[in-house]
This record gives sequence, C-alpha cells and structure tokens, in this order.
Amino acid sequence: MKKAKDILCSNNFIKIVMGIAIVLSVVACVVLFRYSSVSHDVLNNECKTAVVVASGDTLSGLLSNQGLKGADVTAIVSALKTDAGITTIRADKDKIEFVRQNDGAPVDKVVFIPSPWRKVEVTCSDTGDWKCNTVDIIPDVHGVYKSGEIQDGDSFYLAGIRAGIPEGVLANVYDLLAFEMDFERDVRAGQKFSVLYEENFANGEKVENGRVLAVSFDALRGNVKMYRFKKADGTIGYYDENGNGAIKSLKRTPINNARVTSSFSNKRKHPVLGFTRAHKGVDFRASTGTPIPAAGAGRVVARGYNNGHGNYVKIRHNGSYETLYAHMSKFAKGVNVGTAVKQGQTIGYVGSTGLSTGPHLHYEIIKDGKHVNPLTVKLPAIGNLGKEDKQKFLEYRKNLDTQLEKLADNPKLFIQM
Ligand SMILES: [Zn+2]
Repeated sequence: MKKAKDILCSNNFIKIVMGIAIVLSVVACVVLFRYSSVSHDVLNNECKTAVVVASGDTLSGLLSNQGLKGADVTAIVSALKTDAGITTIRADKDKIEFVRQNDGAPVDKVVFIPSPWRKVEVTCSDTGDWKCNTVDIIPDVHGVYKSGEIQDGDSFYLAGIRAGIPEGVLANVYDLLAFEMDFERDVRAGQKFSVLYEENFANGEKVENGRVLAVSFDALRGNVKMYRFKKADGTIGYYDENGNGAIKSLKRTPINNARVTSSFSNKRKHPVLGFTRAHKGVDFRASTGTPIPAAGAGRVVARGYNNGHGNYVKIRHNGSYETLYAHMSKFAKGVNVGTAVKQGQTIGYVGSTGLSTGPHLHYEIIKDGKHVNPLTVKLPAIGNLGKEDKQKFLEYRKNLDTQLEKLADNPKLFIQM
C-alpha cells in the first residue's frame, strides 16, 4: 500500500496523467477537425460551424442537422440553385460554414465554399427571406523559381523533388517536354534544369500550386526552353524561345517513359530470324496489355495481321507522316480502317504477336513513304504563333528571361504575377 501511495504522489505519476490528457485532447481535436469545427468570433460573439461534405451527405440533410426548419431548408436549397447554380454537393471537396449570431442562436447565414476562390453566402434577412451572394476571391499569384542538376544515377523525378519542385508541377513539366525529350533515355548527370511556376495565395496564405510558367532543361539535343503565353484571342499555349508550339504533331515515344530496347538502324541481326536486316523502327519494352496511344491525330489506314508485325495498326497523320505500331496483343475497341483518332487515344495493347521475342511495342515513323528514326527526326509543331502574337511573345519572353536571371541569382525572390 505504501508503495502504491508513493507512486500516486510522485512527480512521475503526474507526468503520466498529464501525458495521457494531452494525447486525448490532441485526438479529440483531430476528430473534431475532421467532422466539423466550431469557432467563435471574439469581437461580436459570432459562432461558426464548418463542415466538410462527406460521402452520402445531402444539402438538406446537413442544413437540418444544424437545426434549420423545413421551410428555411427549402428556401436555402432553392437560393443556391437559382442564384449560384449549385444543385449537388461533392464529398471531400465542398465545405459549408453555418453562422450563428451567438452560441445557441439559430443559423442565420450559410456559406457554401466550393473552392478556395469562391464563396456563396446565403443570409437570412430581418424579414426571414434567404438572399444569396457570391464572392469571388482573386488569388495573389507568385511566380516561384526552382532549379537543380541531375546527379549520377538520378532520374529527373528524383532531381526535381530534391530541387523542391512539387510533384504535381513535375508531372506538368514531364508532359510539356515529352515531345522534346525522353526522360528515360535522355537524362545524364550534369544536366541543369529550372522551372518557374505559380503559387496561389489567399489572405497571405498559400492555397495551392498553379501552372507551369516557364521551364528550361539541358537536353541531349541542346537546351530546351518552354514558356506559357496567352495569345491575343485569349487562347493559352506553351512555346519554345522562338515561338514554336510545344505540342508537336507526333510523339517520339508513344508510351511515356518506356525503355528503348532496340533502336532504329539500317543493319542489325534480327533476334528471331538470325540474319542481318534493317530495323525500321524503335522497340519499347512494356508489359502485355499496356495501352498504346496514337502518337498523333490522324486516320487509321491499316489494321490487321502479318507474319512480321503480328497485329499492327498504321495511321496517316497529314500529307507526309504515317506511324505504325506492331506486335499488339489486341486492338482497341472501335479502331478500324478509316477511324479518325486523336493524339493520345488508345489504339491497341502491347503484346508479342508476329516475329517477336517478348512483349514490346515496335514503333515506326514513315515520312513521305520513307522510314525515319523516330528518336531523331525533326517533328513539325502544331499551333505555331502568327506574326503579331509572335512579336508580342518575343517581347514577353525577353522580359521574363531578365526576371528569371534575377531569380537564378536569388531563388528566394519571386515574381509578383
Ligand atoms: Zn522492332
């Protein structure tokens, strides 16, 4: 007994109890924060309950839960629908705040928050009518600069993360440069890169990362630069430093980041036939069933089987280009001779049909009837700038380059957009 009493009175026991109390209150806070949070405005006693919409929630259900009566619920639902076009609520996305003049008072304001940049307030007037008012929040946009260098054994992804570039921004850079280089094959130690991207702020707090504004990468073919630019007609695109569109009419590697297992050559020993013959395309390793996207927009001119190519599809893109995809396990549904396809649309699936030693995509580009090396052929850009836009672009680019140089010297700065 004496021993137990000692323990109860000791400092250690108090520390343990305090520790448990802290842990329990943290858990309680986390639980409250997940489901709803209540805050009080010290100055005017206003009391706010914030709820994140969960799956299965309905607008009228959430309103009723806050003690609103049937007629008020109907009036609020109808105001949101007619004045703000809000008819459904989205789980884990939409947030709703219920405002009371003081603790225990009925809800007299409902704030529907579909995005950090929009608030729809439905307020009860003195006469008991519910009025809807939409507030758009204009983001404060910072142009943030990050740069890095590829180290031995690095991928661009690893080097990018090390340089502090957020994952979502990196994914956009991949897409943007996919026409210029292959991140699987063209990456070497010592290559430098930089990205300028948006960070969107509201009331001095960062809300989200925005779009990529400019990117530079020391590719094997030389430095590649891309800039985001808005044309006079309001359309937005990415252009290289000379104003050529970033989107090319064809992709060098239809399957992103697939490893090249055999390159284009006029002479090579055929792995199945054993004798030397030209390899008129590039082989990309990929597992059976991997979707094969069309390298560019065009029309299917052949879809069939032959002993060499197995199941294959051939697409004619414009006057001078055709692409061919071989060894498919199967064709995509609805892809037939004569079908118009979009760039990136799945036309079939990787397999090992025909003369093949294992699942891979054999890809050919044919220019004016002649096979060319997909990895080195100069590809035509689409959406190049017209004369007036180009002049504006070049001025914009020069100005931005000057600012980028300043940021390179002091990466802690940012551009106020
Ligand atoms: Zn091949």
